[in-house]
Amino acid sequence: MERKVLIANWKMNKSLHDGLSLAEQVANGVTQTIRPVQVFIAPPFPILQALVQSLSGTKVRVAAQNCHEQSSGAFTGEVSADSLKSIGVSAVILGHSERRKYFKEKDKTIFLKARKAIEQGLQVVICVGETQKEREEGRHFKTVESQLRKTVCKLKIRELQQTLVAYEPVWAIGTGHTASPEQAREMHAFIRSVIASKRGDHAHSVPILYGGSCNEQNAKSLFSQPDIDGGLIGGASLQASSFLAILNSF
Ligand code: PEP
Repeated sequence: MERKVLIANWKMNKSLHDGLSLAEQVANGVTQTIRPVQVFIAPPFPILQALVQSLSGTKVRVAAQNCHEQSSGAFTGEVSADSLKSIGVSAVILGHSERRKYFKEKDKTIFLKARKAIEQGLQVVICVGETQKEREEGRHFKTVESQLRKTVCKLKIRELQQTLVAYEPVWAIGTGHTASPEQAREMHAFIRSVIASKRGDHAHSVPILYGGSCNEQNAKSLFSQPDIDGGLIGGASLQASSFLAILNSF
């Protein structure tokens, strides 16, 4: 896995036509950059396969935004890791704070989803992060440690090799209030130390991405910090110009 990683999380945005056009612009920009960064686009489910096809032969890979923890069965409205793999998806984002908040996803389920997705050969991006209240009360390290111990730290060493972590402070997502480079650096170092306490040196090969109102203005100062191996980008990934400017700030 390339150590530097940038992921566009389109969330519930972009139709087929607009998504194909944006993906093409991103792929063109990625071809022109000299940055050794692995780029993923995570579009809504209905356009995953079209993007896999249109991006084949480019350096951009496709990720899903969720999957179910079972391989198949009577789970109306859900999508399995097996079916994602079968259409050429490379990775899946799990435990995003919007899924934790609106769909009540718990760490236990996130862990089971991760294990199933890895078994199917997908890379997993496990999201962790504290709320505003938790940070104000000085509980941010405790919260993130607990999320990691119930998910990432329970994965076997060979599973860890297919795992990325995204630190996304909930108070920074979509708010315009990004973490300062110091806040992010401090938490990323902490995340690596928590993984290392369980998995030793293997923690060093896990890319740890920052997410939360990252944009072309603040990307450089964030990505130049030690232990920040890339970004998970929401709002700023919906336009090729801003996403590519972030890519070129590495
Ligand atoms: C996200 O939702 O993963 C995210 C980082 O969003 P935004 O960049 O819009 O804060």
